[in-house]
Amino acid sequence: MQSIPIKNVGVSRLVDAFQRTYYYLRLSITDQCNFRCNYCLPNGYQPETDKPSFLTLSEITRVAQAFANMGTKKIRLTGGEPTLRKDFTAIAENIAQIKGIKQVALTTNGYRMLKDVETWKHAGITSINVSVDSLNPKMFHQITGINKFEEVIRGIERAFEVGYEKIKVNSVLMKNLNDIEFNQFLDWVKHRPIQMRFIELMQTGEMNNFFHRYHLSGQVLADKLISQGWHQQQKMLTDGPAKVFKHSDYKGEIGLIMPYEKNFCASCNRLRVSSKGKLHLCLFGEEGIELRDLLQSDEHQTLLQARIFAALQGKREHHYLHQGDSGIRNHLASIGG
Ligand code: SAM
Ligand code: SF4
Repeated sequence: MQSIPIKNVGVSRLVDAFQRTYYYLRLSITDQCNFRCNYCLPNGYQPETDKPSFLTLSEITRVAQAFANMGTKKIRLTGGEPTLRKDFTAIAENIAQIKGIKQVALTTNGYRMLKDVETWKHAGITSINVSVDSLNPKMFHQITGINKFEEVIRGIERAFEVGYEKIKVNSVLMKNLNDIEFNQFLDWVKHRPIQMRFIELMQTGEMNNFFHRYHLSGQVLADKLISQGWHQQQKMLTDGPAKVFKHSDYKGEIGLIMPYEKNFCASCNRLRVSSKGKLHLCLFGEEGIELRDLLQSDEHQTLLQARIFAALQGKREHHYLHQGDSGIRNHLASIGG
């Protein structure tokens, strides 16, 4: 008879059936967004009036506490645009105060950064990823649907001024659109402590032709970097999915996020909770497990942890993107990318 590995018994640690341990939670706190990125929400955010509202501050704090109790060390706040929430600072503060949480990260479109980044720093946000799809204001407007390039760039400068030592910048490079800026992005990080992350366009339920027209393989970019003297780095425990490259002539780094690459899932260390309280084991291809009923009182913490642990045992070994299965996700704004 096959014995159950002792590591998997009990609910104290988040280990799945493939012995992957989860230290990193991506927590979406709203689906709402004020941008209309062509690959995400081309028609803007459409509120669903008959659906439950987003998690409250107490619900968010409880879910974060449960994950921290089970060994989570890093929580990323995402969305939609997380900073649109009026209680965003309180959310960040509550999570930063939870024992065991060492990093509170934020993914933002940068809209509020110039004005609010100092407050975020004081609230306990330890790292920021900001999306900048183009260094050309017109192209930025074309992709995001909003004419805020200058503000976002000034927001990044402000983040350095208030004490962030490194900023990560996300860009979805698309064929014959912003991919012509690849070298410009490299030049941009030559003297800046920015990790420039190129995210390969992912196919979601709402796009088909768009994907085939614009998808650019991350491998093409990896080959370019290697031919220009960049070297791939080793990963740390709580690192995200990016392959990081460094070059001795550059202060900044390059990160490549290549979800279509074989073995992308082998090093998966992330779980997700949606803005309405569902646990998602993978970005793609499943319904989500309801947690909200157990977020109504502190007394349910043990049950909540048991449910999370039980659900994790059903996590698949890998996604099925290669087979064209983009799952139920209409767009990434509903789960945070
Ligand atoms: N609104 C914030 C932002 O844009 O940074 C946070 C949420 S957004 C869904 C998180 C990340 O997902 C962004 O960097 C965005 O570029 C990326 N993203 C959204 N849809 C994508 C897609 N179809 N393929 C690849 N990346 C995508
Ligand atoms: Fe909004 Fe982010 Fe989606 Fe752009 S990528 S539409 S900023 S949620």
